[in-house]
Amino acid sequence: MIENILKNIDINSEWFINNRRELHKIPELDFDLPKTTKYITTILDELGVNYKTNIGKSGIVADFIGKDTTKTIALRADIDALPILENSDCPFKSEHIGKMHACGHDVHCSVLLGVAKVLSTIKEELPCNVRLIFQPAEETTGGALPMINDGVLDNVDAIFGLHVHPSLHVGKIGVKYGPMFAASTTVNIKIIGKSTHGAFPSDGVDAIVTACQVVSSIQSIVSRNTDSRDSLVITFGTINGGTKENIVANEVTLTGTIRTLSQDMRVFAKTRIKEMAEFVAKGYGACAEVNFRDSYDALINHDSFVDIIKSSGEELLSKENVINIPKSEMGAEDFAYYLEKVPGAFFLLGTGNEELNACEPLHNDKFKIDETSIPLGIKMQVLNIFKAYEFLKNR
Ligand SMILES: [Zn+2]
Ligand SMILES: [Zn+2]
Repeated sequence: MIENILKNIDINSEWFINNRRELHKIPELDFDLPKTTKYITTILDELGVNYKTNIGKSGIVADFIGKDTTKTIALRADIDALPILENSDCPFKSEHIGKMHACGHDVHCSVLLGVAKVLSTIKEELPCNVRLIFQPAEETTGGALPMINDGVLDNVDAIFGLHVHPSLHVGKIGVKYGPMFAASTTVNIKIIGKSTHGAFPSDGVDAIVTACQVVSSIQSIVSRNTDSRDSLVITFGTINGGTKENIVANEVTLTGTIRTLSQDMRVFAKTRIKEMAEFVAKGYGACAEVNFRDSYDALINHDSFVDIIKSSGEELLSKENVINIPKSEMGAEDFAYYLEKVPGAFFLLGTGNEELNACEPLHNDKFKIDETSIPLGIKMQVLNIFKAYEFLKNR
């Protein structure tokens, strides 16, 4: 039966790829996705699929009822784009100037629409319930949590997600046990000194000199305070302060990002950064106000579901095309929140092909994919559903 399903996916390749091209023309940002969601619901209507809109602001959830209604497997696609001017001559180039699907979320969305088409034709053979989650705002503040708060994971037993990957050749997938993407936290440090004439610095407290010491001292947290086998990145991306060359600055603001692969390391890094900034500033007669804003948590895959993805990949693409990713990525991905609530796993779908110039990195204005990856992504997710159901049933 599964062989027939896979064969049918090949027959419908053009339809799947066309969805991606249509979505590529209409990139939209954040939660503001009227054309994208309209496109999705039009297709779901054509397929006769039940769905709900405006979940977690502008998300869509489609439900399929299978033979065993006690089990539900979810698949998630993020559907938002980026504020990038597309630099391409492709015939389905972005029609929204300054916006572009440069992270491949048009591919993720078309894979999920493809799965919807496949499932709508095998209603009688579907082993369990399946829920398709079309999620906004992955690139901004995160659409996952609002959707989870609206109940998208209620009664869900397992979840899978994927991301396109230009440095993996089309026909390959990437899997990773354990932590796959990092947690991200923004740090803001305000150094407060006392201004005075630049010729008489001893009458004031120099916030610039203090800020330089704070930045240098914080660099030692990674090299001196953390176990070298644990990952931590601390980067300061902005430093702003001062008004004129002959005035000692009374205020400097630093902003940066912290990336970690565990909650413990995240808490530790925040504690040490706060201590270091406050004590160093005090040593210079200034004071430091330190604030953090946690963004996405670390994405941690569940082993049994990585096994399932591997097994699907080996069956579809052969063993050598299933790549074990050796290291976690320090980028962030809000699929993390689903995996905190239910078991599952995330994997990378190879979309690279040098012959097609499809090798630019994500978020690049020339980003391109080999579109034959789309039917492969659909096959992977359909196989994952069948295999995950067998696993859940026998547990
Ligand atoms: Zn992105
Ligand atoms: Zn992305």
